Amino acid sequence: MSQENHTKILILGSGPAGFSAALYAARAELAPVLLTGSQLGGQAALTYTIENYPGFPGGVGGAELGELFQKQAEYFGTRVEFDTANKVDLSARPFKVATDAGEYEADTLIVTTGASPIHLDVPGEDALLGRGVSYCATCDGAFFKDKKVVVVGGGDSALEEGLFLTRYASSVTIVHRRDELRAGAILQMRAKEHPKVQFIWDTVVTEILGADKTEAVRLKNVKTGEETVFDADGIFIFIGHTPNTEIFQGQLKLDDRGYIEVDHLMQTSVPGVFAAGEAADPHFRQVVTSAGMGAAAAIQATRFLEAETG
Ligand code: NAP
Repeated sequence: MSQENHTKILILGSGPAGFSAALYAARAELAPVLLTGSQLGGQAALTYTIENYPGFPGGVGGAELGELFQKQAEYFGTRVEFDTANKVDLSARPFKVATDAGEYEADTLIVTTGASPIHLDVPGEDALLGRGVSYCATCDGAFFKDKKVVVVGGGDSALEEGLFLTRYASSVTIVHRRDELRAGAILQMRAKEHPKVQFIWDTVVTEILGADKTEAVRLKNVKTGEETVFDADGIFIFIGHTPNTEIFQGQLKLDDRGYIEVDHLMQTSVPGVFAAGEAADPHFRQVVTSAGMGAAAAIQATRFLEAETG
């Protein structure tokens, strides 16, 4: 283990939580190392425009905001490595983290590995991503002014985001695989009463069609087996998120959906390991809340280290 790969604070992930944690740790002169993971900037960087991050009244590009976060964290002394953790040993300190490129040892660890939207896994989905296929209405809804969109899912996210899309779209068709929604009663009532919203029940999307952009979806009724092609300019998929926490299974306490359990100080079940952002937050999932959690985790990690050195 080279001296270079031992750090007081190692941060896993480069979304808003990771870079905020890095900023705070760097300003505490702890020379943090941040491993970016495979998606530099996290989910936020995939967002065309972010209009709800304070300080940018005209909005800011997701990738641009990510670059600003990185620049600020590096300015104060964060070392950013384009590397991904794939195995951790949290059984003793210093914690050991094996990555694509090598190995790190860390006195404290801040996990900000984020979450990924669950994909439908149907033909056309990957090819048309960003060209009509989206997993975030707040991010992409404005591109569908006066257009026809399909929303997939029957949970709170599908209905909430579907209702959000009514601000822009001419029609929002919610395609759900059952004839009963999972979403809460109030959202159900609002969606069912909304003049722009209609439902297609007992139906799944089996293909997304279009050459350069989404033009239609192929639907299949799961009860009758009947297939139809439904014209749509966009498809928004809300069938759940999954936290990127596989490598912590059996080492950190996770909830039944795989989210890392943290207390109000961002402490996980292992002393010295903190978590922030979507890997530990199934509730808010916003850039600003993730950034806040990241800052809190770094402040607490700093206090943890200070308490040890007295
Ligand atoms: P969710 O509650 O797990 O709902 C996922 C929906 O997608 C379900 O209706 C499910 O159908 C459907 N689905 C799953 N896999 C599918 C597939 N392969 N093909 C087609 N449909 C599929 O997820 P969520 O809506 O993202 O909500 C996650 C959590 O956050 C929930 O606890 C929710 O209450 C909470 N949340 C709350 C709010 C709010 O309070 N305003 C807003 C958003 C989220 P089935 O119903 O048939 O399983």
